[in-house]
Amino acid sequence: MSILVKDLTALLSSEQVSTNETVLHQHGQDESYHEVAEPEVVVFPKNTEEVSAILRYANEHRIPVTPYGRGSSLEAHVIPYSGGMTIDFSLMNRILEIRPEDLLVVVEPGVSRLELNEALAKHGLFFSVDPGADATLGGMVATNASGTTTVRYGVMRDQVRDLEVVLADGTIMNTGSLAAKSASGYHLNGLFAGSEGTLGCFTKLTLRVYGIPEHVMAARATFNTIEEAVQAVTTVLQVGIPIARVELVDEESIRQVNRHDDMDFEEKPTLFLEFHGNEAGLKQDVEFTTELMNDAGCQSIQFETETAARNHLWEARHNLAYSYIHSNPGKKMMVTDVCVPISELSGAIHHAREQLEAVGLVGGILGHVGDGNFHALVMVDMDDEKEVELSNRFNESIVHYALSKNGTCTGEHGVGIGKQKYQEAEHGEAYNAMKLIKQALDPNNILNPGKIVKVD
Ligand SMILES: Cc1cc2nc3c(=O)[nH]c(=O)nc-3n(C[C@H](O)[C@H](O)[C@H](O)COP(=O)(O)OP(=O)(O)OC[C@H]3O[C@@H](n4cnc5c(N)ncnc54)[C@H](O)[C@@H]3O)c2cc1C
Repeated sequence: MSILVKDLTALLSSEQVSTNETVLHQHGQDESYHEVAEPEVVVFPKNTEEVSAILRYANEHRIPVTPYGRGSSLEAHVIPYSGGMTIDFSLMNRILEIRPEDLLVVVEPGVSRLELNEALAKHGLFFSVDPGADATLGGMVATNASGTTTVRYGVMRDQVRDLEVVLADGTIMNTGSLAAKSASGYHLNGLFAGSEGTLGCFTKLTLRVYGIPEHVMAARATFNTIEEAVQAVTTVLQVGIPIARVELVDEESIRQVNRHDDMDFEEKPTLFLEFHGNEAGLKQDVEFTTELMNDAGCQSIQFETETAARNHLWEARHNLAYSYIHSNPGKKMMVTDVCVPISELSGAIHHAREQLEAVGLVGGILGHVGDGNFHALVMVDMDDEKEVELSNRFNESIVHYALSKNGTCTGEHGVGIGKQKYQEAEHGEAYNAMKLIKQALDPNNILNPGKIVKVD
């Protein structure tokens, strides 16, 4: 037993410290194409004090620490390339308080979004951010996750009211309060949300929740071209229809879903939409949307109000990434995540499609078009040098296009290692400010080292 494992066992208990092969392997990978690298040990704290003791110890001994939620991130965020220990938050999974009057909930970081939504439903409430995977709320705050409902309810950062954070030296602090607004001090909620485990470990999260809408209506609209579909979304947003979700899936991806999930969707660029509201308001929104969609060249539009039918309609969109993964055994998923101003979205998708055809890899385009965020997804054989090189070139070309339009290299997946090389180009002088923040809060560079910013 190494000294590290012995010391950690003394700090915690033997069942909370693992060097089991399978556990190390699980914590050495994410759900993407990035190379596997295992930690030396994985620890499972049960409370804030234990996290504080672990970090104090790691800081004293300069041991790299990688926080871990569910490992569903896509840019090697959780892969511990510097070795050391991984802190797995799965035992800190209690919902501590539901405050319906304040529309707030207090949770530990290991609670997953589906677990939270199950508990909230009894109070007529729901948590809005839906990144597809059943990620933990700690991981979602740390990546500033967003998803299908962001066009209406905002990103993860918008939901954070307060975080209990353990800093690199073991200090425990809070970043906010329960107040709905505040002009007091620097915006630490905003800083820590999206910090990807590089500035501190979250041990308690106070998050906004919403009342379950009285009525929900889902729709699927097909178009002859992606450009027409994007134009339709732009018009709907411009007139201020409070659409709750609007997702684009390209023709190739619809074909993929039909093949893999035994569906029979029309194989055309398709918008999946959802509307939330009261019955009367919804009726008006739906009528107006239909009119605007038809003006933009919509070929067919189908509405569903029944829960089962709505779920069926959305299933295709939700299962898409996994459908590509399961249909391409042995290959890994590389997914771009740029976000551009809405006015540039159509051009950016057109460019991505041209590039995808040029490299000739299996893949498709889908995205949260209401936010200007889309994914080009390719399946790559990591043992085939040519495919790896083509997919890297493809990824870079899409990012450079987005940056040239004043967009961002990542709308929601985050930086990790995969988008690290674009940070300087995207942020310029602000990249140095980020490095200064990292050095001030983690002077020994123990927290998820090498991710987001590179410091010496
Ligand atoms: C099929 C699929 C679809 C996806 N779709 C989306 C999408 O639509 N939108 C989106 O935003 N993402 C999406 N993702 C990516 C992923 O689900 C999100 O990034 C998610 O937020 C990661 O949560 P997690 O619990 O798995 O965190 P992990 O992957 O375990 O960790 C992510 C980051 O958070 C840090 N972290 C974890 N817990 C803590 C903590 N307690 N304190 C401090 N730091 C911590 C880790 O160090 C790491 O840097 C998708 C992934 C898959 C596989």
